Amino acid sequence: MSKSILIDATICTACRGCQIACKQWHNLPAEKTTNVGSFQNPQDLSFNTYKLVRMNEEIVNNRLEWLFFPDQCRHCIDAPCLEIAFDETAIYRDPATGAILYTMGSKNLDADEIISSCPYNIPKKAKDGTLAKCDMCNDRVHNGLKPACVTACPTGAMKFGEREEILAIAEKRLGIVKQKFPKAMLLDPYEVNVIYLVGHDPKLYSDYAVASANKGGLSRSVALRKMMGPFARMIRV
Ligand code: SF4
Ligand code: SF4
Repeated sequence: MSKSILIDATICTACRGCQIACKQWHNLPAEKTTNVGSFQNPQDLSFNTYKLVRMNEEIVNNRLEWLFFPDQCRHCIDAPCLEIAFDETAIYRDPATGAILYTMGSKNLDADEIISSCPYNIPKKAKDGTLAKCDMCNDRVHNGLKPACVTACPTGAMKFGEREEILAIAEKRLGIVKQKFPKAMLLDPYEVNVIYLVGHDPKLYSDYAVASANKGGLSRSVALRKMMGPFARMIRV
């Protein structure tokens, strides 16, 4: 059993309520940012930013479209970062929720190796090498609350619950969305616990929207690591 989140990008308005709620709950400092001529702020996830609404202006079917993508850790079913860590005091899965959790012990890992293992380009490191990312608000979930981002979302773009329940909601919602967006799809729904629904080509939302675009895909990456065990670290599968 695990918990899952559905993020329906087709009804995300980029209000960034989820981004702020994440900062607030985790007591994370603001980023110092500069205006680079777009609404993207900050520019990327960081050690202090676990959730980021990516904003893209794209021409789709001869129309200028805003495409919004509230990016975060996918809490993968077979997580490459967990597989390669080989250290349960540094990175582990909470068996009660399925959340992949990083601890302060992550500073003893090879941070660049962990970062490069993630097909979604999520983990970020501090100067001392400690790694951080979304923890699915595991403390809230254990106390019967939804993750802060889900609670804050004013449009209903985010849903949280048991995996089977969320998968069913996602499939049903996909059927509805396809009537307006024929190319709509769920992103890696059977490989991750944070499932995105997008209306257009995933590459228009993020270079790392789907695992298959990177490192030959999540399944291949994990399968190779499992097969090779500690030797995977030496050749960086
Ligand atoms: S998305 Fe990346 S950081 Fe998150 S569990 Fe998967 S491999 Fe690990
Ligand atoms: S809170 Fe909801 S609508 Fe606002 S940016 Fe996040 S996912 Fe989109």
